[in-house]
Amino acid sequence: MRPFAYERATDVRDAIERVVGDPEAVFLAGGTNLVDHMKLGVRAPERLVDVRRVAFGGVEERPHGGVRIGAGVSNGELAAHPVIREGYPALSRALLAGASGQLRNLATTGGNLLQRTRCVYYQDATTPCNKRDPGSGCSALTGYTRYHAILGASDECVAVHPSDMAVALVALDAVVEVAGPQGSRELAVADLFRSPGNEPQRDTVLDHGELITAVLLPELPLARRSTYLKIRDRASYAFALVSIAAGVELDASGRIAALRIALGGVAHRPWRALRAEAALRGTVPHADAFSAAADAELADARPLADNGFKVPMARRAVIDVLTRLTERP
Ligand code: SF4
Repeated sequence: MRPFAYERATDVRDAIERVVGDPEAVFLAGGTNLVDHMKLGVRAPERLVDVRRVAFGGVEERPHGGVRIGAGVSNGELAAHPVIREGYPALSRALLAGASGQLRNLATTGGNLLQRTRCVYYQDATTPCNKRDPGSGCSALTGYTRYHAILGASDECVAVHPSDMAVALVALDAVVEVAGPQGSRELAVADLFRSPGNEPQRDTVLDHGELITAVLLPELPLARRSTYLKIRDRASYAFALVSIAAGVELDASGRIAALRIALGGVAHRPWRALRAEAALRGTVPHADAFSAAADAELADARPLADNGFKVPMARRAVIDVLTRLTERP
């Protein structure tokens, strides 16, 4: 590990000022991803600005509906919070599907969103990787691709986003509150993440020195009828091969009045299944309709050498989750 400076920020403004003018400075929150990468030699920031003692706020119901989640709230606390468990079960389930109990107690809401891919080549500093070392090449294109993308990839990167929480937040129409040197802004979690294109080194649209201060959950009737399914190689402490977060609202006649679906483990960003949603909105729930909607969503899938199984796996996950959500009274 290379030497680095460590500083503790007193508040949001102080944290931003310490990072924005120094290209070698990064924010440190729970450290569950960044510190691993420093040990592996994947990343070598010269200055860590610790934001763990910054007062971002807790889990607070908003006066006009919805919930504000401070960026420093731990994944464990968020998963167990009664407001989240009852009002946004997809989010609680996604958090509990991620990592281990110890890691969830340390990892933060803001840090979870900014964790980096677990592509084995990205994490092996001896191999070419455009995300770690732009222009060096992509080892996965000729390597082992069981865990890689089937949707939205580019010739420069076929990695997937590792966060379970982010998939649930995209399905729940969540928004991130971001503070930066020019002030604060809000953007949909779905717009926070990037497709790899020809800049795979950039996972998000955030600029250097911008800090996530909160996640905002809207008041959303379908959120109460939502869930998260994660399919992985072992029962715990494994990243998704395929995952799905979905929420459904039925009208009085039993038709689908509203729904939102996001897929994980399939793309560089949580994949909002807009085609499937459009195909099902206003219809009577039925397995054939779910199957056709999944096929429409996956029509552009481009599996790699080792991950062709992800297409039927994602298809069955969509059918299974929508069937369960629409069968409940
Ligand atoms: Fe790097 Fe992306 Fe290729 Fe993995 S898939 S080796 S992260 S460029």
